[in-house]
Amino acid sequence: MSEIKDFVKSLNGKPVLIFGLGRSGMSCVKALQKAGANIVVGDDNPANLEDLKDIKILDTAHDDLSKYAYLVLSAGIPLTHPTPHDIVVKAKLAGLDIICDIELFAHIYPDIKTIGVTGTNGKSTTATLMHHILNDCGVTAQLGGNIGTPVFDFDMDNKDQWIVLEMSSFQIDLCPEFRPDIAVILNITPDHLDRHGTMDNYMEVKERISELSKNSDYNSAIICSDDPYTQKIYDRAKELGLREVIEVSTLKSMIGGVYVQGDILFDETGDSPIEVGDLSSISNLLGIHNYQNAACAYAAMIKIGLEQGNIWESFQTFAGLNHRQYHVRTINGVDYINDSKATNAASTAVALGCRENVYWIVGGRQKKTGLEGLEEFFPHIKHAFLIGESTEDFADWLGKYGVEYSRCYELEAAVTKAHLIAQENRGQPKGAGVVLLSPACASFDQFKSFEDRGDEFAKIVKALEE
Ligand code: ADP
Repeated sequence: MSEIKDFVKSLNGKPVLIFGLGRSGMSCVKALQKAGANIVVGDDNPANLEDLKDIKILDTAHDDLSKYAYLVLSAGIPLTHPTPHDIVVKAKLAGLDIICDIELFAHIYPDIKTIGVTGTNGKSTTATLMHHILNDCGVTAQLGGNIGTPVFDFDMDNKDQWIVLEMSSFQIDLCPEFRPDIAVILNITPDHLDRHGTMDNYMEVKERISELSKNSDYNSAIICSDDPYTQKIYDRAKELGLREVIEVSTLKSMIGGVYVQGDILFDETGDSPIEVGDLSSISNLLGIHNYQNAACAYAAMIKIGLEQGNIWESFQTFAGLNHRQYHVRTINGVDYINDSKATNAASTAVALGCRENVYWIVGGRQKKTGLEGLEEFFPHIKHAFLIGESTEDFADWLGKYGVEYSRCYELEAAVTKAHLIAQENRGQPKGAGVVLLSPACASFDQFKSFEDRGDEFAKIVKALEE
């Protein structure tokens, strides 16, 4: 608490503007308010401004933004693309620093040890896995940022703890100065181009997490160089030499790195390669994509100083994450899998890639790149069940490639039909198959969130008759 109070004192009464009152915005409001800061809040949704006691509300038309110390912006609000939000334009004109809660948190606790995880896919899985390993090995750690606890809800009494932060590109974009002690970059594939404009811009934002050195014993970047974008970032980081760089790969072996060959995880950060273990034996980390997550988490834990054997043991007790290829039920040999978190084609690719005879529920608010890149997995698909506002576009596209599909529009209709056809076809070669919700789309056209969509799927599946 004293750190926040000191910070508030240093503001000399200058107010802080907090715009976007989601969970992290509200947590920041409460923490600063408790420490006696002068706060003003704003939100596009008037409902979020109701019932706020003793907090000033921004008068967008008349307030002079140059009087504020910071604009703490919710990462959900467009900073640059498709067009900057009004508040961003005004703040820039007023010369106001625009940051997110993580940057503010780092100003207040500059010495706390942090791991920042970014990448297009696998951030939550990897951050949660690292948090699990740390706690399992007796190291105090908290998990937050883009997942779980907002940073201002952390218990900050223990100064020796690790903070594991999942960081989206939007949050990195709002962190002009904060760099984690250990920066992890998992992969970069086209996504969020609506919010970042071009692929180069998206890559440049992700790269920022690993640039600049941090004066710390752990100053390092763990980069999985399996795609051309992360390969470039790895090459540049090596050339710049501002951090120790540990390369990770699931495609190649290398001296000094951590890599997966077949299903085996190898650690060659020391003098000779060590076989860490067979990843296919860990039921909640199946698939090459999870091998990537596991290898990156392993490299970070080694950097922190944990023992190889202890890390491996903690892998065994990782519970996995709901909505990420999460097994809901098996009916007569057919698996029902909730992969609602797959909101882009790349994450759907990994789910389709490791399965045969797929009854695929797909659709929602589509990304710019639609279903591009999934063509190679079409032989795995028995039938697609289309939901959401992308239905007509996806029907055209699947039709072009000769994939059988049904227009279902609603999730319940899709699950019911998929169940029926999957159960009828059970005797086919390559197994009874899988009813897979892996939408490759955002959920907002029909649901509150991907969690809401996944919960609904699980509810419908649990009610199905055998
Ligand atoms: P994020 O937090 O980056 O969105 P998650 O761990 O929540 O990532 O996983 C999101 C989706 O991406 C899930 O469908 C999951 O199966 C898939 N996925 C997980 N890890 C990877 C990876 N390393 N590469 C590609 N896809 C992945």
